Formats: sequence, structure tokens, C-alpha cells
Amino acid sequence: METKLLIYECEGTESQIKEWFKTINIAGVPLVPQELLNAIYSGQFVTLGKEEFSNSQNANIQKWSAYIKGSANRQAFFERALDWASKGNIDDYMSIHRNDKNINELKKYFNTVIDWVSSVFTDVESEMCGLEWGRLYEEHHTKKFNSAKVSAEVRKLYGDFFIKDKKGIFEFILGGNNDTKLLNIRIFDEPTKRAVYKKQTREAETKKKSNCSLCAVGHDANKSKIWSFGEMEADHVSAWSKGGATSAKNCEMLCKTHNRAKGNR
Ligand SMILES: [Zn+2]
Repeated sequence: METKLLIYECEGTESQIKEWFKTINIAGVPLVPQELLNAIYSGQFVTLGKEEFSNSQNANIQKWSAYIKGSANRQAFFERALDWASKGNIDDYMSIHRNDKNINELKKYFNTVIDWVSSVFTDVESEMCGLEWGRLYEEHHTKKFNSAKVSAEVRKLYGDFFIKDKKGIFEFILGGNNDTKLLNIRIFDEPTKRAVYKKQTREAETKKKSNCSLCAVGHDANKSKIWSFGEMEADHVSAWSKGGATSAKNCEMLCKTHNRAKGNR
């Protein structure tokens, strides 16, 4: 209690105060960006916002923690609420609402996003924490989702060995199960590709056709071209998205041009 505290009193425009806070934010435990913003735009709006979102005693924190990373007292929930409501322009939003006497709009939007996520995805998975739910809500909330069907899809995708990126499962489902890039599907390993290349090339040479099956059925000079291993890429004969497995039986080597044209791996 005897410790002397150094206290700064700041006056000036918002941008001047902001610069000043950045300058002094090098001593002790540095403030996170949202703490800096709270200081710059201090006033009733921030006070009410912190009461709702930065209060670790708030009974909703546990529910929010399923979707939002960080802690209440370091402003993680307040920051996310502002980020969602402002579509990424927290600074401007706080400046505009600085003198508001309530946070109704902010609270309403935040709860709408949380309620939407928890109604579409009824199971809570750890990978849901920290996803861009504000953006996903904006992009997909007008579509109809059957939560039982969604839940079954989530479980099926979670059990799929070929999916490397489980975080991507939620956006994949919201987008209508099209964008397999989100899932980072495992591809064929090197020995499998070499074995398939060898077999395909041997067969092609006896038929005097290209070892790329799509070149072989074409009409240009490439129809009898034997591509080197490095000039080819592995393709799923039956696409992963249509249930194709990543085993040698389902592997076909194509020249790079044709593989890229096929796209869906
Ligand atoms: Zn080809």
C-alpha cells in the first residue's frame, strides 16, 4: 500500500491520446489493443461494455468461451463483440458510440451471432473456439440449416482420417460442403505416387500413348507424350468429396495441366 504510483492524466484529441498511450505502453505488462482502445474512448459506452463483456462473474462467459478465445479481464469478449458489430472497424465504432448511454445494439448483435452458431452447431467442439463467427454469420445466416443433419455431418467429418484441418469443418458445412481447401485433405504419399507412376507409364509405353490418361485421349502432340514423374501430380480417381479414399487403388497420376484443370481433389 506504500507503493507510489505514476499516474498520467491525458488531454487531447482521440488520435493524440492514442499516440500517447502507445508511447507509454512499454512499461510493466503491456496493454492489449482493446485495453488501449478502452482507455482512448473511455466514457459511459466503454463502462457499460466492460460491465457486460469484461466481467468474469457474468454467467454467460462459459457459453461464450466455446466460441471465443481469451479472457474476460483482458477484454477478449468485449473486443469480439465490437469486432462483430463493427465488421472489423472497432476504432470507428467506438468513436461513433463513445457517448451512447446504452450498449443495446452491441449486445443484441453479439447475442444474435452466438445464438445462431449454437443453433446451427448443437455440439460444441474445441476447434470451434476462435473461429471468425462474425464473418460466418454474415455470410451464411440467411440459409436454412437442419441442426440434426449438421450434427451428423460434423461427426462424420471429425471421423475422417483424410481431413487434416478440423477447424475448417464448420465453414465447409456452412458453405454447402464444396470448398475442400478448408479441410486440407491428406494427399497420397510419395511411395504410392511412384508405384502408380511406374505402373501407368509401363502400360502407356506398350500402348504408345501418353502416361497421362487425359492427354492420351486428346488430339494434340501430347497424346503420346511420356511425362516424367516430376511433371505429374496425383489425383483421386473418385474425388475425396464424393467418398474417394486416399489409397493406391484410387490414385491416378495426371500431367500438371490436366490435374489442375480437374481441380477438385
Ligand atoms: Zn495430361
